Amino acid sequence: MIGVFRVSDKLGRRLVLILKSYPCSWGKCIFCPFALEQSVDIKEIIKENTAVVEEALRELREEDVGRVAVFNGSSFHELPLDTVLKLRPLARGRVFEVEERSEYVTEDAVEGLAELMRPKELVIRVGFEVWDEGLREGYLRKGMPNSEVFRLAELRRRLKARGTPIKIYVYVLFGIEGIPEEKVVESVKAFKELFDGVIAIKYRKYLPNHPNEVNVSEELKEFLERNADLVDWGEGEEWEIGRESK
Ligand code: SF4
Repeated sequence: MIGVFRVSDKLGRRLVLILKSYPCSWGKCIFCPFALEQSVDIKEIIKENTAVVEEALRELREEDVGRVAVFNGSSFHELPLDTVLKLRPLARGRVFEVEERSEYVTEDAVEGLAELMRPKELVIRVGFEVWDEGLREGYLRKGMPNSEVFRLAELRRRLKARGTPIKIYVYVLFGIEGIPEEKVVESVKAFKELFDGVIAIKYRKYLPNHPNEVNVSEELKEFLERNADLVDWGEGEEWEIGRESK
């Protein structure tokens, strides 16, 4: 749901902006519901996003927070430039979180974004979803092979060594048919070794042709709460994909 939300959880207090975007350039992941909120109407995208950014600025004037997250159901680099420029006062001096497909995460792109937005820290979330490449590529159709996992791990290492204030968090998907719990556990452990943290996302089925949800064992729940930096159970109203904003 497009809008502005105050969130407080293991990552701290933050303002979350859900924006409208062009359709994801990949658009093939078998579980992806985001097409329900995307648009190809540039005027509509800019108008709705401008209203959300203005609301976020009002919120921050009422009560400031040091962390702002922007999600747009595709990659941050697929937002219109108009929206990106309007986000600068929200990012400046704060921890600023975005989501990207791995191919947008190049050294030039990250350093350019950090220079443009001037955040205290740039947090990039990447949806690798599962460590097992066969499941990631053959089943989920993520289009982000292991070569991308290791490229980003190395890029993160180099940028940090140069003093670029960047963190990379990886999404791990659970509760989806076809991905056994031991593969979820393996994913959390492996991604934590290479990146700054892991955000575990409970899968929710939005469309009839998508994979089914499966029950999550108590053991996995406990493991995730202990080991993931955040477990997103998909219960916040901001994640209601396809619902109209208030
Ligand atoms: S990369 Fe993300 S937005 Fe694009 S199709 Fe896959 S899940 Fe959807």
